Amino acid sequence: MIKQFLRTFLLLTFIFLVGCSKDDDPQNTPNPIPSNRLSTGDSAADFLSDELFSSLVIEVVYVEGYQPSQQSLDNLVSFINTRCHKSGGVELNMRSIAEPGDGDYDIQEIDDIEQDIRSQFNTENRLALFAMFINGKWHEDTDNSVVLGVAYRNTSFVIFEETLQRFSDQATEPDRVVMETTVFNHEFGHLLGLVDLGTDMQSDHLDTENGHHCDVEDCLMNYRVEAGISIGNISGGDVPQLDSQCIADLQANGGK
Ligand SMILES: [Zn+2]
Ligand SMILES: [Zn+2]
Repeated sequence: MIKQFLRTFLLLTFIFLVGCSKDDDPQNTPNPIPSNRLSTGDSAADFLSDELFSSLVIEVVYVEGYQPSQQSLDNLVSFINTRCHKSGGVELNMRSIAEPGDGDYDIQEIDDIEQDIRSQFNTENRLALFAMFINGKWHEDTDNSVVLGVAYRNTSFVIFEETLQRFSDQATEPDRVVMETTVFNHEFGHLLGLVDLGTDMQSDHLDTENGHHCDVEDCLMNYRVEAGISIGNISGGDVPQLDSQCIADLQANGGK
């Protein structure tokens, strides 16, 4: 079982969607509120600093049966409070939905679903994050490689919760909360502009072969943090942390 698990390559990724059209974004207005339809990393500074937004609402939408653990959501909020200046607080806004599709999703379908159901958007002083926990699987999953999460656009990520549950909590598999927390924090890290994705690097730690990931092996933003997940299972379960270079990048872009 362990071998089987280790052979399966768990992927955490991000995808650029073309940013907003001019129609979406009011032009020539004083201090316009940034749209939620921009590209991954575009709102990094807005998450990190409180210059534009002092509070954050996380709209958590899950397909019935695939609710993330409350502990994992609390861990994400704690990660956000550790790195981001949000003195007005971070609030969870949570609800379930019926299965929205055929269970085999590409990013265009995910984005279409978001446009149908998203209810929280940036408003004056409050930034909105859309986090969807979905049934089914990523359309390119194979027996040896599955996608657990994708950050897309500037304030959105999707977690393939059915897949994540399939690979956690059995006797030889990682702890569910450790795995969820790792994936949620990693995807949120991309929205914070890591690595070199809207947050400038203060030192060169970009993994050039694996796009916008950190080259420090045990960093949360390493492309193989899934290796940490499986090791975590054996050692009792530690969520990978950001290394000092990733933290320095965030601090230089207004974060803690
Ligand atoms: Zn990633
Ligand atoms: Zn790093």
